[in-house]
Order: sequence, then structure tokens, then C-alpha cells
Amino acid sequence: MKYLCLLILFLISARAESQIAVDTSFEGANAKVLSINNSTNTLKIESVRRRGDIYNVVFYFKVSGFDSTRAFKIQVQYSQLYFVPIQAMYSYDKVTWYRVSGTVSGNYKEFSNTYNRSSIYFCYGYPYVYQNVLDLQSSLSGNQFVSVSNVSVSESGRGVKLFRITDSSVPDSGKSLIWVTGRHHAMETHSNYVVEGLINYLASSDVYAARLRTQAIIYVVPIMDVDMAYVGGTGKDQNPVDFNRDWDSPSYWNAIKDIKTKIIQTSYSNRMRIFLDSHDPFPGDADTTNRNFFYSIYESGPKSVNLNKFRTNLYNAGGYHFGRKPMYTTNGQTSKRWVDSMFTNIDFSVSLETGWTYRTDGAVWSIPLYRYHGAVIGRAMSDYIYQSTPVIGIETPVSFSLNVYPNPFNGGIKFEFTLAKLSDVRLTVCDVTGKDVLKSEMEKLNYGLHTYTFDASGLSSGVYFYRIEAGEIVRSGKIVLLK
Ligand SMILES: [Zn+2]
Repeated sequence: MKYLCLLILFLISARAESQIAVDTSFEGANAKVLSINNSTNTLKIESVRRRGDIYNVVFYFKVSGFDSTRAFKIQVQYSQLYFVPIQAMYSYDKVTWYRVSGTVSGNYKEFSNTYNRSSIYFCYGYPYVYQNVLDLQSSLSGNQFVSVSNVSVSESGRGVKLFRITDSSVPDSGKSLIWVTGRHHAMETHSNYVVEGLINYLASSDVYAARLRTQAIIYVVPIMDVDMAYVGGTGKDQNPVDFNRDWDSPSYWNAIKDIKTKIIQTSYSNRMRIFLDSHDPFPGDADTTNRNFFYSIYESGPKSVNLNKFRTNLYNAGGYHFGRKPMYTTNGQTSKRWVDSMFTNIDFSVSLETGWTYRTDGAVWSIPLYRYHGAVIGRAMSDYIYQSTPVIGIETPVSFSLNVYPNPFNGGIKFEFTLAKLSDVRLTVCDVTGKDVLKSEMEKLNYGLHTYTFDASGLSSGVYFYRIEAGEIVRSGKIVLLK
């Protein structure tokens, strides 16, 4: 009888005191449990480094079994204060997200709150996982203006999605080319809602989106680093090379290699006008100047003027400012610099930073607001291309011209040529013994300006000979590699 009473008492107390449990078994989840204290209703976690991560920013998990009748405390241990968000996010259904502010205490930040239920999802920001891109692809599958392909396959075998948006009832010839990339850095999930908003806008029935589709072909890669987005990695500055420092040749990551090739291929038939790469700052970055702005690589000159013209269009489209800052130097080539070096006649090539917590005008970012921000960018692109595209299309050159520079060169040399008509172009380079060191066949290049960069970093110093054939036109000459 005594033992039975004890057993009943035990069962009652076990029922009354449920146990805090953390689930990280879903896509994008990340958390290492450091301690659980059921009596104080406290959970302590830290972010786990994935793949080659050197930072640990991302945390995302489901926690259940806490006492919802009193404050539940989640403590996030950090290695850098700016890694932890100013406000973390929670959700009951992974659809609607709410913010909760944190207080710093020692080496952790504590997010204390009371919840309506004893089970929540908790995240360092608004999560955006690989599945979101697959969902976006299916939601647009019936849209006549959008086609989606795998531009690359990641190291873990996932398709890197490329969205192509244009009005196919208007011939592609003469249309402007726009490229947008997102999420070179896996932790930057908020920038993904901006890119999603842009894609949905460009695919929409809005008259300005429709106008842009008749004048441009827009390519968008929403997630560059799909594997790290899938496993909930941080990505930024990862080993062996950060995705956005990997645009030198040869590139390390499959996605960068394949997208570089695709960008070059698409530029053969259409003139590259705008390149935009979407980013976010660190979630704990409290710098009020680190809100929505462009990192520009030009401080003066026509490209700087073009960017400012685009910023005016953005202001007119959304009613708030997009700032600009000079780009700091990085170790390794970034996407915008690579694009700018490949396409010397591009209108502008920039990266866009979108604040984690606040917009320039102080508005608090939400998922709908990020999507709207993407639509504002789409509208401004439409205005920019409309205002600066001659109605007849790009100027048609009357004859073949060739400019090879710099010569002598060290590393890369550019062959810039104009075609008067659609042509197959063959470029060969051989050394003094007559051995080919480059053989490039470029099929069906449209009229207009084309640039081919020959990367000779693997060759030794010396004299080389090039020969370029475009239909019946042949030009040849000498180039000198000096290392
Ligand atoms: Zn970034």
C-alpha cells in the first residue's frame, strides 16, 4: 500500500512537471542544447558550425514541454555579440512569426517570454530554407513568363534553381539582360524574402512588370549556397572559401563555376545591363547605417551616375531611401566585381544589403515588408530599363571591331569585339611552338558587343598568338604574358 501511494505520487508529479525537449530534425534546423532546467523553465543552447563554418550564427529549433503558465527563458550562448539577433523570432506554426527581445547576460543572450502554447519554433530570424525555393517554383509552374531550371548541382546533389523571366511573345533579340543572385551567405535568410518578392513581382500582372518583361530577360538565382541553407549553416567566411569571395578563376564551388558560365553564355545574345546580389548584415548588427543600401564599386563616373538614377527610381517606387556605401576590399573576387570586370559596358553591378531589423525609415521588417521591398526593386528596374532603352533596341554595329587588352598582360586578357550580325565565333590562342592553349567556340552570337576574358594564370610568361574568326572575318595578332 505504501509503495502504491509513492507510485501514485510519482505519477502525479511526473504529469505535473513535463520535460523541456528540443527538436532539430527538420530542414534548416540548428541548435546544440547546453542545458535544460525544468524547475526554472530555462533552456540554454548555442548555434552549431556546419560544413566549413568559422562563425555560428544560425539557430532554429522546435521546443516543447516547457511550462506555459510562466515565463519561458531561452538563453543563446554566443561567440560574438553581433551574431545573436536584437530580436529573435518565434512561431506556433512556422508561418506567422513574432519577435521577442533579448537581454545580454555574460556570454549569452536571454529571450524571456510567455507563450500561448507549450510548443514553439524559435529562430534567429525569419527562416527561409531550400524547400521555400521549391515551393516558389511550384507556385509559378503555370506562369507563362517564368521558367525554372537547375543551373548547377551542389556538392551534396541539390539543384541550384535559376528563374528566367521574360515575355516570350516578344523576340529575345535586343532585350536587356538583368541578373540577380541571392544568398551567397546561408545565414542571410531575410534577403531571400526580398528576392522572392522580386520574382513574384516580375511574374505578376502589374503593368510595369509586364513592360519590363517585354524589354528584358531577367535571371534570378534565389539561393546560391543551397547545401548550407538546407542544413542551417551560417556560411559567411566559411572554409575553404566564402561563396562571395569565390568568383576568381578557378572557382571552388560548383554553383559559382556554373553560374559564371551561364552569365557569359546569356550575354552572347543580350546586353548585360544590371547585376544585383542580395545580402543581409549580421542579425545582431545594431549599426543604424547598416539598413537598406548598396555596396558600390564606383564612386564616380557613368556607372555611379547610373546607380544613382536607379536609386531615384527606387525612392519613387517605394517612398524610402536606399543608401550607398563604397565597397571595402575583400580577399577574393566578389560576384559584382567579377561581373563588372567581364562586362565593361554594364550599366551597374552592385550588392544590396537589406537590414535585419529596421528599414531606413525606421519601419520594422516583416516578411510581407521584405516581399514588398523586392517588388519595389522590380518596379525600379522596369523604370530604369524603360527610361534608358532606345525604342529601336541596342545600336547595331556596322562592322566587326576588335580590342585586345591589356597587352602585355598578367593573368587575364580581354577580347572585346563587336559583331555586325549573328555569327559563330572561334577564338584560339597558341604558344610559340604552335601548341593551342585556348580553343573557344562561341555559337550564334548576336550582333553587338561581346567580351571574352582569357585566363592565362596557369601559363608561363612569353609570347602567344591569337586568332579570332567570325564568319568570313579573321583577325590575328601577338599577345605577351608577363608574370
Ligand atoms: Zn552576405
